[in-house]
Amino acid sequence: MECPHCGTMSDEVIDSRPIKEGAAIRRRRRCLACEGRFTTYESTEEQLPFVLMKKGPGQTGVMMHMKSVLTFTTRTLDAVSRELGSLVERVERQEATGNSPSRKSEGVSATDQVLRTIKRHKNGVSIAGLKAKTGYDDSKIGNILYRAHKEGRVKRLRRGFYVAMK
Ligand SMILES: [Zn+2]
Repeated sequence: MECPHCGTMSDEVIDSRPIKEGAAIRRRRRCLACEGRFTTYESTEEQLPFVLMKKGPGQTGVMMHMKSVLTFTTRTLDAVSRELGSLVERVERQEATGNSPSRKSEGVSATDQVLRTIKRHKNGVSIAGLKAKTGYDDSKIGNILYRAHKEGRVKRLRRGFYVAMK
């Protein structure tokens, strides 16, 4: 082992003990040239998860492993970027044609829709009119009107006929 103090290659081991439950050995060394002390650690080479390719001439196992990892990563990134590309295309197409099915009522509750419809009719609107405008049924509109009336947001002009409160 090369001495870190003077670079000489001769040393002696003065102490040696297992660490990590025997998975490695820590050695205390003394340089025979300069008497400098240093520590080395020794462990078995980790088993790499996959080294599928055979070693070519002049290529180390680690190099081959790195190459297979990089190839795998590159292929994965390619696939992901293709997937993203087609997703973006789909969204753009949808925005261009305005075909998003839920867009119209998005973020507007049934209550909002009913109340807006009532507000648009300054002289009031009947339940039949609300049904026609919103497409909701009697009980849904009835429930919304009941709550809105209790909260003072609409006023009943006569039976089944409502106007918005200012
Ligand atoms: Zn030395």
